[in-house]
Amino acid sequence: MKVTRFAPSPSGRLHLGHAFSAVLGHAHARAADGHFLLRIEDLDTGRCRAEFVDGILEDLAWLGLVHDGLPMVQSHRRDRYDAALARLKADGLVYPCFCTRSDIAQSLTAPHGDAGAHYPGTCRNLADDPNRRASTPHSWRLHSAKALDLAGLPRWTEQDGKTYQAAQSDIGDAIIARKDAPASYHLACVVDDAESGVTLVVRGEDLRPSTQTQRLLQILLALPEPAYLHHPLVTHADGRRLAKRDKAPTLDAMRAEGVDGPALAAALLEGRLPLGFRLSRA
Ligand code: GLU
Repeated sequence: MKVTRFAPSPSGRLHLGHAFSAVLGHAHARAADGHFLLRIEDLDTGRCRAEFVDGILEDLAWLGLVHDGLPMVQSHRRDRYDAALARLKADGLVYPCFCTRSDIAQSLTAPHGDAGAHYPGTCRNLADDPNRRASTPHSWRLHSAKALDLAGLPRWTEQDGKTYQAAQSDIGDAIIARKDAPASYHLACVVDDAESGVTLVVRGEDLRPSTQTQRLLQILLALPEPAYLHHPLVTHADGRRLAKRDKAPTLDAMRAEGVDGPALAAALLEGRLPLGFRLSRA
């Protein structure tokens, strides 16, 4: 059975780009008589707020998109991420990293902490020091060289039949568990996609680079491989990304202006964007 998911982070109100992603994921599931799931990616406690979870539910209902079952909420699933991390530790595929943000500031510009490719490897070969681990906040990083030795370069196929293969230099020592959260985006994503039986990951092209690390983790953790559909991004008509600082209209603001949710969803599905917006390749 085809299973898709919409996996927003409740760190703000949803905008047109989220709506496009949700509409596509929903349509792929419904066309195949499959399931469309909702996952709340709320592990970043500093940025996520309960009121935005309510906002996500409101916005989906307004668009007329009904998800199947209860939403999966990442902050309730710590034990699952701990178990996956324990397995990677047992296999010697992760190491504790004590670097502070400023130590690796330049690598933190990448989205979703996907900083592994730039991480200089400072902590990679430290002798294990349980006392230091007990007393000092640390993250866990993937030992990418060992991981690639074991798994080979990850490949995946997109919905349109195109096959991608990561290059060695694309894969870095990505963060797997954060100092302040039990799992990074990558680890939580692959654990949750597998457990909820997701067969098609529908998300924006800006996240395609994440797929390299996520496919690698799937191989290391013996998780099934979903298909991927990375769709073009909704941008302003001049190509600018939608961002809060650009006053990108949120779905609740569009609703307040009287926009019809289901009509908007139908238009998005046909690739017709409201005036002032377009679809852009990343
Ligand atoms: N939570 C991520 C975001 O809002 C999406 C992750 C995904 O679809 O894999 O950007």
